[in-house]
Amino acid sequence: MAFNLSRYFSISSLIGIVIVVAVLSFFYRHIAINTLIKHETRASVALTTSFANSIWPIYRDFVRSPGVAARETLLSKSEVKALRADVLSQMRNLNVVNVKIYNLDGLTVFSMNPAQIGEEKKDNPGFLTAKAGGVVSQITFRNEFYAFENVIVDRNLLATYIPIRKSKDAPVEAVFELYSDVTDLVNKIEITQYQIVGGVFGALSLLYLFLYLIVRRADNILRQQEAERLLHEGKIRHQAYHDSLTGLPNKSRFGEYLQEAINRPVRGANKFALMFVDLDRFKIINDSMGHDAGDRLIQIAGDRLAALTRESDVLFRWGGDEFTIILENIGEVDDVSAIAQRIIKGMCAPISVGKHELVVTASIGIAIYPTDSESSEALIKNADAAMYHAKAAGRNRYEFYAPEMNAKAKERLELESGLQKALQNEEFILHYQPKYGVNSGNLAGVEALLRWQHPGYGLVMPDQFIPALEENGLINAVGEWVLRTACAQNKMWQDEGYAPFTVSINISAMQFRSRQLIETVARVLDETGLDPGYLELELTESMFISNTEGAINTMYRLKDLGVALSIDDFGSGYSSLSYLKRFPVDYLKIDRSFIKDIEISNKDAAITNAIAVLAHSLNMKLVAEGVESQGQLEYLKSRGCQELQGFLFSRPVSAREISTLLENEKSSNTTHLTSVK
Ligand code: C2E
Ligand code: MG
Ligand code: MG
Repeated sequence: MAFNLSRYFSISSLIGIVIVVAVLSFFYRHIAINTLIKHETRASVALTTSFANSIWPIYRDFVRSPGVAARETLLSKSEVKALRADVLSQMRNLNVVNVKIYNLDGLTVFSMNPAQIGEEKKDNPGFLTAKAGGVVSQITFRNEFYAFENVIVDRNLLATYIPIRKSKDAPVEAVFELYSDVTDLVNKIEITQYQIVGGVFGALSLLYLFLYLIVRRADNILRQQEAERLLHEGKIRHQAYHDSLTGLPNKSRFGEYLQEAINRPVRGANKFALMFVDLDRFKIINDSMGHDAGDRLIQIAGDRLAALTRESDVLFRWGGDEFTIILENIGEVDDVSAIAQRIIKGMCAPISVGKHELVVTASIGIAIYPTDSESSEALIKNADAAMYHAKAAGRNRYEFYAPEMNAKAKERLELESGLQKALQNEEFILHYQPKYGVNSGNLAGVEALLRWQHPGYGLVMPDQFIPALEENGLINAVGEWVLRTACAQNKMWQDEGYAPFTVSINISAMQFRSRQLIETVARVLDETGLDPGYLELELTESMFISNTEGAINTMYRLKDLGVALSIDDFGSGYSSLSYLKRFPVDYLKIDRSFIKDIEISNKDAAITNAIAVLAHSLNMKLVAEGVESQGQLEYLKSRGCQELQGFLFSRPVSAREISTLLENEKSSNTTHLTSVK
């Protein structure tokens, strides 16, 4: 607190007490001394009057006669001796210590101290006052004074000039000066003065002490309140600038800090890196495992990032699953790469959330100040664009910003905003990718794959817009459109007389959790007239992580409708094998990533083999997607895979092309698979 109340009170009170005591003591002394002077003067006047009445007539002529006589002349006079004896007899036992008599010319005609006789005093103000008929007194302190019979030391003497006259109105005949010793009286005054000073000082000090205790208590209360206020303010400031989930500085603080970093005066060139770190597929985890698990994951990710960055780097939570890092003191760009690599590596260590063990990777976008931009907004935009680029390039990696990325980011934004109207404008289309039975060699089914025929950008693939559809909630409506279109198409092929086959539909996690799913599927089947036996729904493992019982229930209800179920991209998600045996699933679709390197990677071959064994033992059929080569085909056949799908047979094609293919097969009575066998 800037204002120290106790100290201020103490200093001002003490100054006040000193002033009061000093003023009081001064006035007391002044009044007491004045009273003393008045009193003593009156006594001296009375003494002089009695002297004038008794002895003065004898000496009057002697005193008046000499005019200005020399000292020796006066001393030799017998009157001086006689006068001395008379004065002594009259004033003995009084407090008078000297008597001087001046004639009207100012000559000291008589003094008890012979040394003073003959002295000239005609200009002395006391003498002049008395000569004019007044009485005047003055107290002086003398170290040494010649009294009647001896020398006295350290005395307060009151000297009084008194006119001598016959009667009150008679002319002044001479001037008397009486010295009385008032030392005792002055001492008494001083003692009383000290007592008053002491008493008043003591009383005021007590009062001061009493008030001081009150003030100090008030001061303490104020201080405490001030401390509480500061603490509260600090807390509010902390809350305003920190994220409550991770405790990290938040987006607001990030904005300020970034500006500070830009403005920082640095020796040499100011250079720093801005990193955007985004957790990969966080939304799936958050949606499927619940928000508590999502929150926990973000906390752990925040802790990890903090541990993976250098002390001089500042980490912020930007929002959602995004973090930003400002890395100052960077020398070469390679330093930043090294940190980015360390983060990517460190982030993918398994995380335990509840009963689950998850692997969460991160994608990082990096922009360098001032190379990539000198403004904070552009720097943020650039790092963000680089991060999206890292995602698009396969996630779990980092990208430095490059100018062409902004065009991509712009495109992405345009796509996202265009999605709102895509359904209404009938811009979605379905492609179908054939699946073949390994043993029969026949077309076993087709997988419906969504595409967006964008008026500006042409054909847009699902990876580029399905996450946005999930984000803006449009996935349910679009999913229903896919379901209806694919079912209607399949029914049409059947009606056209082709041998019936299954159509597979990809279901998103959000659709799977929606209460309407069962009803929608039933209604679409009813409306399109497709036999449920020719519809297959592709689910993904992420749908079963949380609320597994609910998921099993939904699966049974779908099965009750008569449709087939498969688990898509099997092996890439978070499967709990203990639950798998309870799932009423017909097919396991091995994830494309294992098939890809099946011929060159022993591990991928081993995983594929293990999935095949698992599927057989659980009485599920095995499907492989992404089959591109003859070698992959041979291996998958040897593992007992029942159905195959991949570019080796056909890319996803339009419904019309499937019709042509069906037509060809019908006429040649041969299948695609037999042709490649
Ligand atoms: P998915 O369900 O695993 O679909 C298979 C993907 O693998 C398709 O990609 C397909 O074109 C591709 N593919 C098939 N054979 C090969 C091959 O031999 N080599 C390679 N490299 N790729 C092959 P597409 O069409 O881009 O679809 C990507 C993903 O988008 C799908 O993966 C699916 O998860 C999702 N998706 C597609 N349509 C829909 C839809 O209507 N609804 C929902 N919810 N998701 C959909
Ligand atoms: Mg699929
Ligand atoms: Mg798949």
